[in-house]
Amino acid sequence: MQHCRTLLHAGVLITQDAQRRIIENGSLAIRQGMVVAVGTREALSAAWQAEQELDLGSMLVLPGLVNAHTHAAMTFLRGLADDMPLMDWLHQRIFPVEARLTPEIVRLGSLLGYAEMLRTGATACMDMYIFEEAVFEAARAAGLRCVGGEAVFAFPSAACAGPEAALKATRALAERCAGEERLSVAVNPHSVYTTTPEILTACRDLAEELGLPLHIHLSETREETELCLRKHGKRPVELCRDLGLLDLPCTLAHVVDVNEEELDMLARHKVVAAHNPSSNMKLGSGVAPLSSMLERGLVVGLGTDGPASNNQLNMFTEMGRAALLHKVAGHDPTLLPAARVLDMATLGGAAALHDARLGSLEPGKVADCVALDLASPNLQPLYNAVSQAVYAATGLETRMTMVGGEILYQDGRFSRFDYDALCREVSDLRSFALRAAGLAE
Ligand SMILES: [Zn+2]
Repeated sequence: MQHCRTLLHAGVLITQDAQRRIIENGSLAIRQGMVVAVGTREALSAAWQAEQELDLGSMLVLPGLVNAHTHAAMTFLRGLADDMPLMDWLHQRIFPVEARLTPEIVRLGSLLGYAEMLRTGATACMDMYIFEEAVFEAARAAGLRCVGGEAVFAFPSAACAGPEAALKATRALAERCAGEERLSVAVNPHSVYTTTPEILTACRDLAEELGLPLHIHLSETREETELCLRKHGKRPVELCRDLGLLDLPCTLAHVVDVNEEELDMLARHKVVAAHNPSSNMKLGSGVAPLSSMLERGLVVGLGTDGPASNNQLNMFTEMGRAALLHKVAGHDPTLLPAARVLDMATLGGAAALHDARLGSLEPGKVADCVALDLASPNLQPLYNAVSQAVYAATGLETRMTMVGGEILYQDGRFSRFDYDALCREVSDLRSFALRAAGLAE
């Protein structure tokens, strides 16, 4: 008999391993936060002696979903302003509130965001915001994995006087969380249109020096492309390529307004795109050419973007919307099948976070997983577990969320923080947000 900490038993286990095995009555053996064996309950029970058994009955267990692009702190802005063009929405409603943020507001907003993610099956995310130290404090409090970094703008933010200060904050953050198993840092230039080529070059240099990935919003709208062409005489992808950004491990959020030539460029540079279908739909940004990306072998993760432009941080609804969006856009029901969508939300997310330990349940990977209650009426009967997860689940069937073998959410309870107290504190932020957005006296 071999020894492990936990033997987890599921009714159905989606592994997302190379063979995409789905095991009925499947089990995981977990030791020191890692998966050490996967197989049938019968086989693992015979071979492994565990300190504890976690019997999830008939539940469906799958790898924790990875949110490849988000701004979790913005939960406190959820529903404050909807149905506006991107630039008006940003400049009239979002930026004025963000100019008056404090680390405490960012911490509370982020913790609420992470609560929502854990509650709906996400175990890791790629986050970009300001006061990122406070974001990390929230991530530690929630327990999920986070790759974050201070957003870099050409103009001052509430957190930083300018781009130099933001880069300094990024460096300090990287030093402080060195050795933390669940947190790591990326260099986060916000976008081409909110920075300059000089700032982007400084971001590239810092990422290169510290060996960090780079995370940027890119080619989100046609307007962004037109602005870039007017200002720099190049399209956004070309500009980033010429500045050497694409030579780094890179996560590019959106990638909607791109032509064939740019897609070839991105594929050659082996960057990762973070696809945000809800945000693109809600802001009317367009449809990312996902089929063309996948045909070229471009790796794509799936993200919710911020809760002000979605308005959810729910990776299950995001998967369903992704699958439907591309079918309607391409007038073709065979586009983006459920299995491809689940790949994006798991293995694609692992690539977007530049963390190969995530995305599947197999020996050598971290024990990050989610259990869905298959007894929910909307998940009955079961023919195809992947179809059920992508098309039928709402995310709220999540009964248990585990990161590194630690249960962070189970049956309505978060293990590391007081959710009711958090809700009261976030609710108290409403009058601040309304006043700052010019929507109240
Ligand atoms: Zn974003």
